Amino acid sequence: MATSRTIIIAGAGIGGLTAALALARRGFRAVVLDQAERLEETGAGIQLSPNATRILGQLGVTDRLRPLATAPTAIRVQRAHNGSQIVRIPLSDCEETYGSPYWVMHRGDLQAALIAACREQPDISLELGARVETFATHSNGVTVKAMRGQSAVDAQGVGLVGADGIWSMVRTGIEGVTPPKFTKRVAWRALVPADMAPPQMREPEITLWLGRKGHIAHYPVQSGRAINVVAIAADTWTDTGWSTDSAPSEVMAKFPAGKWSRHVRDLLGIPDRWLKWALAERPQPRRWSQDQITLLGDAAHPMLPFLAQGAAMAIEDAFVLANRLSENPDNLPQAMRVYENDRRARTAKVQRAARSNGKIYQYSGLDGAARDFVMATLGGTRIRNRYDWIYNWRVDAAEFTPGM
Ligand SMILES: Cc1cc2nc3c(=O)[nH]c(=O)nc-3n(C[C@H](O)[C@H](O)[C@H](O)COP(=O)(O)OP(=O)(O)OC[C@H]3O[C@@H](n4cnc5c(N)ncnc54)[C@H](O)[C@@H]3O)c2cc1C
Repeated sequence: MATSRTIIIAGAGIGGLTAALALARRGFRAVVLDQAERLEETGAGIQLSPNATRILGQLGVTDRLRPLATAPTAIRVQRAHNGSQIVRIPLSDCEETYGSPYWVMHRGDLQAALIAACREQPDISLELGARVETFATHSNGVTVKAMRGQSAVDAQGVGLVGADGIWSMVRTGIEGVTPPKFTKRVAWRALVPADMAPPQMREPEITLWLGRKGHIAHYPVQSGRAINVVAIAADTWTDTGWSTDSAPSEVMAKFPAGKWSRHVRDLLGIPDRWLKWALAERPQPRRWSQDQITLLGDAAHPMLPFLAQGAAMAIEDAFVLANRLSENPDNLPQAMRVYENDRRARTAKVQRAARSNGKIYQYSGLDGAARDFVMATLGGTRIRNRYDWIYNWRVDAAEFTPGM
């Protein structure tokens, strides 16, 4: 592959794959290197808000996703101990209001659609089992050294994008070692076959249970065949993996009877396999870019999951980056600085909003009662409208050209 328009992407997560597609559409070649031997998402769901689905539509991916996605009619927020409703946030008019749907789906389905779209592009090369170890810039571009087992793999390009997640080695190469901080909260994730779940939990809705020191969210995935369950609680366990097994008894102990309704505990009792993920935070680096190297997604701005926006921000980054590079292909360092400048304030604001939700979700006692009162008084529509600045985001009109 010629190096003159080749961008190397470290990481084939949602951000890296979207970047490859967006760059290919803008006339670049993309070499995507991922350390994983196989790209497979173990059981977990993802919410994709209109700002993300709009871009996936631009990139021609939504037709593949539509049959597998569910458009939830609402987010139902309930009290943990008895399941009484605090507020119902409508979502059924999202497509009409924001011009693109709000979807929930299985991450594996999203990833498979992105990979299939990448494989159709002759200008995208996907190299699996290749762990990026070092990189160096020079007058002609960047040389990246990856390891496949014991063998070294060299890749040459005009630029490098670190889309290698919260523990990004590309970020470490740019700013030195500033490790993420664990938040003492752990997310447990499982899939429940829909026919084993109570009927009200199969509704096309996102249900959020708010309780003391924890919350639980569930929604249908895989065209309604399964229910994705995410349960988040205080815990001091720390590990960098995404997929550590956890015993069902560990999960049940975090959401005890009395404090958590029997209905949601029945749901938690179904899976015999849970995976856990220690939530970590990392402030944005002072600069995302150095020479012709930049960062995107969690590598630049890891997101706590309390606003369901981490993947959405990675998707937005990818699209904006490709546009900026195509506007100034002869000066990638400058194009990358413009990209960083475009993205920094918005992603920082979303990081803050996610952190704030994380605090509010865990209120209990008087604080919890006040939260519930405020939410109920505001009402679902007004709560959702507070996020218009997230969902209404679109690249500027010149870039938003259908069929690009
Ligand atoms: C419990 C939970 C629920 C969430 N729910 C949502 C949601 O509903 N909606 C939403 O938008 N976001 C959600 N998020 C956030 C979202 O998952 C992340 O923000 C998003 O996956 C980040 O994508 P990314 O491509 O930047 O990084 P990642 O998905 O972390 O991908 C990084 C990739 O880089 C590879 N890699 C790492 N190091 C190297 C290396 N040295 N060489 C080569 N490859 C490497 C990894 O193998 C991986 O494939 C959630 C997060 C959590 C924890």
